[in-house]
Amino acid sequence: MTASGKTAFRIKKVVWRIETARKMAQFLSFALFNAVLFGLGPWPIVLPVLYSLGVQQKTIGDAFAILQWMLHESIFPWLPLASFFLIAVFLGRTLCGWVCPFGFVQDLLEYIKRKHIELSMRTHEGMTRIKYVILAITLLVSGTLAISLATGVGGGYKAALGAFAPGPFNALSPADTLFAILPRMVLNLRYANLDAFVAGILVVRPLLWTRLVIMVLTLVLAVYVPRSWCRYVCPHGAALAFLNRFSFLGLKRDPLKCTKAGCRACVEVCPMKVPILDSPWEKFTDPECIYCLKCVESCTTRAIRPKFP
Ligand code: SF4
Ligand code: SF4
Repeated sequence: MTASGKTAFRIKKVVWRIETARKMAQFLSFALFNAVLFGLGPWPIVLPVLYSLGVQQKTIGDAFAILQWMLHESIFPWLPLASFFLIAVFLGRTLCGWVCPFGFVQDLLEYIKRKHIELSMRTHEGMTRIKYVILAITLLVSGTLAISLATGVGGGYKAALGAFAPGPFNALSPADTLFAILPRMVLNLRYANLDAFVAGILVVRPLLWTRLVIMVLTLVLAVYVPRSWCRYVCPHGAALAFLNRFSFLGLKRDPLKCTKAGCRACVEVCPMKVPILDSPWEKFTDPECIYCLKCVESCTTRAIRPKFP
């Protein structure tokens, strides 16, 4: 084997190792989130990843869903807040790349299409702001509800919010629909009379239909635009993106190894459209980076490396 052949072989081995390890981590995390079904937990652990408020039988909690629920119960959400801060400070958005169940689903959907839609950088940057708006609206609704309930005047507000009171975001979250509502519907179908089930579906239930439409649109979009939900909509992603800038974990690019001109392998493979080549050499902690390490494995000169701290 020639020297260049050996190098290509070695790189292929590394590529195989990182991506396989990530997929295995995602799969195991997915199983762990549901391991209560096999007799484990539930554990008093909350992680800043998107799962569901509606699934009672879960081993690990979804920090943002629990935060909304605790505010609805007038409890200070110290545990979910600590989870967001500690994880983000040490690991940035790594859990988005390696653990999040909804991120895993999107990564699998990405395989359906070989060619994806490329948004211009300007459109992309504009759209990344949507998730901050969603985060702000959710915190505003949950926060004002908590304050009004604590001061004894929130009964009417809570009643007006209805299904949105325990989780203004989760009431429409596609992850809740996928991981909680749909399985429940399937179970109902199994145990209930089929006619009653169909009649129940056909009855005009605006919230249910809105949820289903949002979930289908989200999943279809993920086929065409990798991690579109994480890039533009997810409030978990927004909170972590904000804190990611201060993360101990980052990436560095070796100026002696990076050929830059003519090679955009890392940029092209990045699912989050991180402007890697315009980032500082020594260390970059881009808000959108989910530390999937696809850029690390795609670099033929091995110029990109994780950096901690
Ligand atoms: S941004 Fe994506 S990976 Fe991160 S929590 Fe949200 S859905 Fe999960
Ligand atoms: S910069 Fe690299 S590690 Fe970060 S999201 Fe893009 S490909 Fe993944």
